[in-house]
Amino acid sequence: MSDCIFCKIAAGEIPADVAYEDEKIFCFHDLDPQAPVHVLMIPKKHIASTDDIREEDQELLGYMMGKIKDVAAGLGLENGYRVVINCGEDGMQTVKHLHLHILGKRKLTWPPG
Ligand code: 5GP
Ligand code: ZN
Repeated sequence: MSDCIFCKIAAGEIPADVAYEDEKIFCFHDLDPQAPVHVLMIPKKHIASTDDIREEDQELLGYMMGKIKDVAAGLGLENGYRVVINCGEDGMQTVKHLHLHILGKRKLTWPPG
């Protein structure tokens, strides 16, 4: 998607503070962190939201799930963390490229806002 900001970040066209990268995913620190550690994990493939996940994406999504613990460990989140995916208007999704928020290094409250 040529006009997608996260596709541009994954392609290195827009700079980001990279936390982890491989051939399938890109992880970078959020511009407006909501916790001392706030990293976004995105698939390099453009998928707009959880509503747009297709059957053919299952392997990629499973790969992302499996990578969370490695990225979290690399960020020093040994005491736990939270993973959030916002979707659509009520979910307050602002960037239409699927992303996992990985938040940690503080005690996070529940329920979320
Ligand atoms: P959403 O609200 O869609 O779940 O989350 C989008 C996140 O992307 C927000 O936390 C926002 O701060 C972050 N964000 C938006 N634009 C940029 C950007 O250009 N660079 C970085 N690093 N984060 C961004
Ligand atoms: Zn995109």
